[in-house]
Amino acid sequence: MRKFLLAAAAALLASHAAAQSPPPPKLLVVISVDQFSANLFDEYRAQFTGGLAELASGTWFRNGFQSHALTETCPGHSTILTGDHPARTGIIGNTWIDQSIAREDKTVYCAEDERAPDTSSAHYKVSPEHLLVPTLGDLMKSRWPSSRNVAVSGKDRAAVMMSGHNADQRWYWDGKQFTTDLTGAPVPQVVPKVNAAIAAALAQPRPALEPLPYCQTKARAVPVEGGGTPVGAGRFARSAGDAAALRASPEMDGDTLALSAALVDEMQLGRRATPDVLSVSLSATDYVGHTYGTEGEEMCLQLTELDREIGDFLSVLDSRGIDYAVALTADHGGKDIPERERLAGVADAARVDAALNSRVMGPKLTARLGIQGPGLLGDSSFGDIYIDRRLSAADRKRLLDAAVAAYRAQPQVEAVFTAAEIAATPKPTSPPTEWSLIERVRESYYPGRSGDFFVVLKKDVTPIADTSHGFVATHGSVWDYDRRVPILFWRQGFRGATVTTPVDTVDIMPTLAALIGLPLASGSVDGHCLEGTPAFCPDR
Ligand SMILES: [Zn+2]
Repeated sequence: MRKFLLAAAAALLASHAAAQSPPPPKLLVVISVDQFSANLFDEYRAQFTGGLAELASGTWFRNGFQSHALTETCPGHSTILTGDHPARTGIIGNTWIDQSIAREDKTVYCAEDERAPDTSSAHYKVSPEHLLVPTLGDLMKSRWPSSRNVAVSGKDRAAVMMSGHNADQRWYWDGKQFTTDLTGAPVPQVVPKVNAAIAAALAQPRPALEPLPYCQTKARAVPVEGGGTPVGAGRFARSAGDAAALRASPEMDGDTLALSAALVDEMQLGRRATPDVLSVSLSATDYVGHTYGTEGEEMCLQLTELDREIGDFLSVLDSRGIDYAVALTADHGGKDIPERERLAGVADAARVDAALNSRVMGPKLTARLGIQGPGLLGDSSFGDIYIDRRLSAADRKRLLDAAVAAYRAQPQVEAVFTAAEIAATPKPTSPPTEWSLIERVRESYYPGRSGDFFVVLKKDVTPIADTSHGFVATHGSVWDYDRRVPILFWRQGFRGATVTTPVDTVDIMPTLAALIGLPLASGSVDGHCLEGTPAFCPDR
């Protein structure tokens, strides 16, 4: 009897152990939906019936955070697969100013090598040079040299930051076609084929999309301040050859996923002994958000199509019999145009006063102080602002004091922090919902790249004054509409829960590492493995 019980207990334990450690998946698919705020995911969750509904049936963390202050594309993508905040990845913004470089253009693009001759921050050589830490794919290839690390995106910086320093294939849209910065890698046969198919589609006009009733309820044209045209009732009709309209439409994500699926087949991803990682950053939601705002018919159509397109992509993986897992998140959130927000009752929603731009503020201050030159470098009304290093130490100090006081006196400014104040702030250890403003800025701070001071605009101030160039809405702030993003984990046969506990995008990488049995040295990344996902976290 006793022996029987022991055997039964042993069998139970064995089956429990087996249930706890299924073999690791052979392919990690990591999807970043650019500018997919948690506000948008929450609003549309009930409308999703395709890929996004399927992924949400795994574990849905409703309160994921890109917890740092400068919520832009490059820093956001740098957190997802490194497990580190921008203070460690070194990717503090899409661009920064480095007055020590030899090049005439002192603005540095996050995903460039500025040492390349005849380059500028606008015409750059794509490179992962500035990313200071390895990605999950880099670490997988160190441990398992036959693992493949592949990235596809509508934006070069997204593909670079998700794949890192040792990518097998990296393809991104350059405005006309998918291209790569990798010179040694063989070009897969599918790439020219997909590019040719996109060129053929682009040469034809595209009829307007037919909205579902839910999207029709959002169709209402709203006038935009600052010279832009009204938005809110667009349906993505495109004239032949209009590549800018292709990019700011669901077509861009469809093309990105088509190339991703073709690479899975040609490279036989997920069908060998060692795991592969495929990073896909879908850029259209961001371009649609910038061009039309987030609460019109345009975004509704975009998210409807995104849901369907991701579903189609997952169906391809299913049909190939690949054992894969998916993580989905965003590089930052976003916010609607202030004109429509005011109609919805957000009384303080406003566009920024153009006088806050450093190009306007700098000359005003230097004239007052009797200092030569523009004084402040950069072209921004918020975030990192730099003092011209060609000035004497005494003048730099006078200008810094005057600039901090001048910004603090502006009614649209919430706070100003000097680099010394930020550097003296310890890295936050509490949940991202509890971080003070300076703690958020601390995780966006990297000495030598960050500014001399950091300006935080008040909540609901949109830092676009002039809308005549086509962008009417944006992100980038310290506020939760820009910080809060969905984080989903999905694996075949796994049913998780909806979780409201705040988590961080830096937690994604250690969770995926645990899922594939990739050991991480204790303390080597900022993030922590998340329980309640398909991963079994190692004991901390
Ligand atoms: Zn972005």
